[in-house]
Formats: sequence, structure tokens, C-alpha cells
Amino acid sequence: MICDVCGSTGFHSAEVARTFTVEGKLVVVEGIPAEVCDRCDAPSFTADVAERLRRLVHEPHQPDRIIQAEVLHFHAA
Ligand SMILES: [Zn+2]
Repeated sequence: MICDVCGSTGFHSAEVARTFTVEGKLVVVEGIPAEVCDRCDAPSFTADVAERLRRLVHEPHQPDRIIQAEVLHFHAA
């Protein structure tokens, strides 16, 4: 297994959170099992997890909780 981002081969198992934009709405999914790069923290998901994630955010769902989020704009120099 090679990291897509930095090319490292060291990984560890962890649960991560990801944000998705579904029809203009921001959705956060927590507790996703991933292999996380030891060097750059980029997560990799198995095909099964990726497919279940896709279904979870696109199918009708009841959120576990609602959060407020800060929105920042990246200003390129
Ligand atoms: Zn990496």
C-alpha cells in the first residue's frame, strides 16, 4: 500500500471523520475506519468502506447531531 499524497508506505488503522457536500449541504461522517498514512495523515479507505460512505451520505438519513461550523476563505497570496 502506497500513500496517494506523499508516496509513503507506512500506515496505521484509525477512525477518521470526513466532510462531504451533498446537493449543496455539508455532511460530516465520523467513525470511518481507515488506513492513515504515518507521514502525512492522509486516510485511505477500502472499496467497501468508500461505497458504504457514498450510500450513507446520499440516501435519506437522520443526523446523529447537528453542529455549527466556522467557514474560512483561503486567500491565495
Ligand atoms: Zn502520506
